[in-house]
Amino acid sequence: MSIRQNLNDIKSQLPEHVTLVAVSKTKPVSDLMEAYDAGQRIFGENKIQEMVEKYEQMPKDIKWHMIGHVQRNKVKYMAEFVSLVHGVDSFKLLKEINKQAKKHDRVINCLLQIKIAEEDTKFGMSSEDVKKLITSEALTSLTNVCITGVMGMATFTDDSTQIEAEFKRLKTIFEDLKPIQTSNCELQTISMGMSSDYQLAIDCGSTMIRVGSSIFGARHYSN
Ligand SMILES: *Cc1c(COP(=O)(O)O)cnc(C)c1O
Repeated sequence: MSIRQNLNDIKSQLPEHVTLVAVSKTKPVSDLMEAYDAGQRIFGENKIQEMVEKYEQMPKDIKWHMIGHVQRNKVKYMAEFVSLVHGVDSFKLLKEINKQAKKHDRVINCLLQIKIAEEDTKFGMSSEDVKKLITSEALTSLTNVCITGVMGMATFTDDSTQIEAEFKRLKTIFEDLKPIQTSNCELQTISMGMSSDYQLAIDCGSTMIRVGSSIFGARHYSN
């Protein structure tokens, strides 16, 4: 199957309120261009350096999403163009994104990553910490960021009952936080679901799915 066919297959199954992020990490620009030519405009990368390199080579109407863990010292490289940062998990990081966004006179949209998996390896904040952050006085001074939703990653497992429970947890947390609206926090997006579980994620309330291998094929990591 070609990248175009994969994309069309997935898009034909998506409800209108669900946004597809094409996760293109490790893939060459030629593959991304195939997706671009098939109409895809939102791409997700998990390394800032790789995203910057692709941004420089590709058409400028692409929306670039940073879906990986963000190192604070690298925010400056993407601040000029990044469209959404999925993995924000601390006030410190938000502060740095705000500082760099200001230099470019932009507002950068961010999702707060919430820890829903039982695994220890996943990043993310507790729902209590998220609530504290979005209701804090300190947040209102960060006028160059806007918190537009939440993101979560389920445990890496074949047990779909467990994955479903974790997705439902994120949806519940989102609904609980949603009424909190401030000058720079307006929760609309639930980013959850990848190639293996996006249908389940949509059933559980996802509005943004991050799909890589089902579009571009398996990733081969060299070195
Ligand atoms: C790689 C990655 C994805 C996509 O994974 P696939 O299984 O290839 O669809 C989604 N989200 C994050 C955060 C990723 O790092």
